[in-house]
Amino acid sequence: MTTSLPVPPRPVNAPPAFHLLAKPSGSACNLDCTYCFFLDKEALYPGSKFRMNETMLEAYIRQTIEAHQEQVVNIAWQGGEPTLMGLDFFRRALALAEKYRRPGMTFLHTMQTNGTLLDDEWAAFFKEHNFLIGISLDGPRELHDVYRVDKGGRPTFDRVMRGIRLLQKDGVEFNVLTTVNRVNGDYPLEVYRFLRDEVGASWMQFIPVVERLNAGGITLYQEGTTVSERSVLPEQFGRFLADIFDEWVRRDVGRVFVQTFEASLRNWLGLPTSGMCVFNETCGTGLALEHNGDLYACDHFVEPNFLLGNIESTHMLELIASPQQVKFGQDKRDALPRYCRECAVRFACHGECPKNRFLVTPDGEPGFNYLCAGFKLFFGHVDFAMKLMAGLIRRERDAKEVMVILERTFAGVKRHDPCPCGSGRQFNRCHGAAPNRQAGKKIPVSLPRSAIHDRTSFVPVPGSSSD
Ligand code: SF4
Ligand code: SF4
Repeated sequence: MTTSLPVPPRPVNAPPAFHLLAKPSGSACNLDCTYCFFLDKEALYPGSKFRMNETMLEAYIRQTIEAHQEQVVNIAWQGGEPTLMGLDFFRRALALAEKYRRPGMTFLHTMQTNGTLLDDEWAAFFKEHNFLIGISLDGPRELHDVYRVDKGGRPTFDRVMRGIRLLQKDGVEFNVLTTVNRVNGDYPLEVYRFLRDEVGASWMQFIPVVERLNAGGITLYQEGTTVSERSVLPEQFGRFLADIFDEWVRRDVGRVFVQTFEASLRNWLGLPTSGMCVFNETCGTGLALEHNGDLYACDHFVEPNFLLGNIESTHMLELIASPQQVKFGQDKRDALPRYCRECAVRFACHGECPKNRFLVTPDGEPGFNYLCAGFKLFFGHVDFAMKLMAGLIRRERDAKEVMVILERTFAGVKRHDPCPCGSGRQFNRCHGAAPNRQAGKKIPVSLPRSAIHDRTSFVPVPGSSSD
């Protein structure tokens, strides 16, 4: 019986806490976002109804609690679209968490959703149980609706915004997850200001779309050295983050939280972890659980080679601490090419995510990150302000003071003066550069949707060998 698997002796490698994303509806979703890598994963389970059953739900909750040594346990739901399971499923999940809760243990309930199926009942439930909700929103209407469409190809912006307003009405805590693609990647300030001023979001995540295409033109496996034309370009992503950072660091520190900036600051402070697996030296504690109990190394590696086992037959504690998973996490550091090991911003980047390391370095070593140029641009750009903020925090002052310091530092500097940050560049080519390449350019109402909806288009990556 699944739920009665005994708790194994704690393996020496077992982490005291971990982050497991459960996919109760597998990859099934009510939408059909063009770049969604989850949708292709349906092919892994042909004929499945993609619904986590009662037995598996209990196994998941119970084993997650048993495997944690720490007192705060994150119970995280993702998809596909988890709300397809219906509210009763989550009511049972909460009851099970209570059933197995150890004295002193508290839960952090989180869910990533597209928000389109939410109603008053969902919002009240989230509020009552202190859920933290992540909502996927790619910017203002014209940008969001380029790729985030439903099964009929219809736009979803209004439905997502309706969901957000419901959460806000009930005071549910939420953050916004924006995927940065080839289209919205050109509009950093429009995206940021929209999320801040019109949505009212104070927590934001910006995740790069890097869609590797296999020979069949689908994204089922992390293979291939070509990317889709929806994928953000490396420097475009770096510029996107840098432009938003410039606005944030001059007026929003302490009131808006951008996950990448928070993680960077932690790395500039030299803290043990950044809070984002991609910017840590090693990873391996962010796993994914399919609806049938299959446990995978990571949400981005839900594919046969990275299947650890099934929690119906092996307790998740053993799978998480297995040599295969430990190696997966350590390979992030151990497989780093020399080019990265000698990089000036390695302490902040750590070669980012292994899923994006599919190129060869300029000196011919494999394992080079597709987004490298963007990270060099971004981390180089923020160095001056990051050092200022880290210095403030070390002196037990408020990082917010950076806003006043920067204003004074840059006041009166002329375009062709050397930049006060010490980069050696002219001010107008460094911190005085125009913040947004698209400034003054209106977002087109009609973007070329027919071209970008093509799931099988290939764009060769410069410098890569072809598969
Ligand atoms: S493979 Fe990438 S996304 Fe997955 S845990 Fe490692 S760094 Fe994070
Ligand atoms: S910026 Fe580029 S070279 Fe430096 S660590 Fe990151 S991926 Fe490697």
